[in-house]
Amino acid sequence: MKYPKLRELKHAVIALIKGPYTSKFPFEPHVPAPGFRGKPVPDTKECIACGACANVCPARAIEIVDRLETNPPQREVIWHYDLCIYCGQCERLCTTEKGVKLSAEFDLATMDRSTLWSKIEKELVICEDCGAIVGAREHLQWLAKKLGPLSSGNINLTYAEQQELNVSHDIKSGLKNADIQRSDLYRVLCPKCRHLVLVFNQTGKQP
Ligand code: SF4
Ligand code: SF4
Repeated sequence: MKYPKLRELKHAVIALIKGPYTSKFPFEPHVPAPGFRGKPVPDTKECIACGACANVCPARAIEIVDRLETNPPQREVIWHYDLCIYCGQCERLCTTEKGVKLSAEFDLATMDRSTLWSKIEKELVICEDCGAIVGAREHLQWLAKKLGPLSSGNINLTYAEQQELNVSHDIKSGLKNADIQRSDLYRVLCPKCRHLVLVFNQTGKQP
C-alpha cells in the first residue's frame, strides 16, 4: 500500500521541479505521441472508391453514395467524423493500403457537426444494358493492374484498363434479350446481363 503513495509523491516532486506532465492545450499547441489515431484523411489519388472500408467500419461512419443521375455517374465515399471512433480499421483494411490514413489531427470540436466530414468522388461504371452498377472505374483499373494478363479474361476489366470504352449511362437503344448478339459480349455488362448474353449465345434461346 505504501509504494503507490511514494510513487505519486515522487511524480509530484518531479512535476514541481520540471513543470506539469499535462500539456497546456488549448493555450499551447499539442503534439500527439507517435502512433496517435486522429482524423482519418482519405487520399483522392490512392482511394479507388471500392467501398471496402465502409464494410469494415464498426461505427458505420463511412457512407457510400452512388449518384446515377449525374453525368457521368459518380460514387462518393464520405467519412463522418462525428460518428468515427478513430479505431483505424479503414486504414488497416484499405484495399490499396493507401486510400485513407489516420492523421494526428484531434481537435475537431465544433458546434456544427454537419461540417465534420471528408469525401472522395470517383466515376462509376454501369452496365450498358440494364444500368446496374459494375463498380468504380478506378477500382476496375486497379483490379486489372493487379491481375495482369489474367484480367484479359474479363471484358469489363480489359475495357477499364484500356480506358477505351464509353461506359455510359448511354444504354444502347432498345436492346432486348432477344436481340443479343455475339458482339454484345464485348460491352460493359453486369454479371446478370453477361450471363444472359453467354447463355443466349450457347443455347440460342433466352434463359
Ligand atoms: S477510424 Fe474506425 S470508426 Fe473511423 S472511419 Fe475508420 S473504421 Fe470507421
Ligand atoms: S480504396 Fe481504401 S479508402 Fe478508398 S474506398 Fe476502398 S477501402 Fe476505402
